[in-house]
Amino acid sequence: MFKKGSKINSIFSGSCPRCQNESMYEDKNPLHLTKVLKMNENCSHCGLKYQIEPSFFYGAMYVSYGLNVAVGIAAFIVSFVFFGSTVEQSFIAIVVTLIVLFPFVLRLSRNLYINMFISYDPKAVQK
Ligand SMILES: [Zn+2]
Repeated sequence: MFKKGSKINSIFSGSCPRCQNESMYEDKNPLHLTKVLKMNENCSHCGLKYQIEPSFFYGAMYVSYGLNVAVGIAAFIVSFVFFGSTVEQSFIAIVVTLIVLFPFVLRLSRNLYINMFISYDPKAVQK
């Protein structure tokens, strides 16, 4: 979808941030809710350890918070301004949107977070 080598590609595909050759997740589909957070330990192409330090992905909670606020504001604007809903209906729209998009936001925040620390390296190979 996006050009290999860009951060956008790794963020939206969930691929290894260093070599972008494979998915970081055991199950690529975020809708399989029991496996949404199950990640491989290392990249089998470049050997990158995804959990850079213990509890590394706790930091993704802050990214997730920001994303959820953005999604909530977008849902409010769409329902209140474009559909002319009442404030109560808009509130329900926000809650429903956040629940439906929850697995996607969860993974997107992890992908964003690890991409803040690791850059693409086309020469990355298994040692
Ligand atoms: Zn890799």
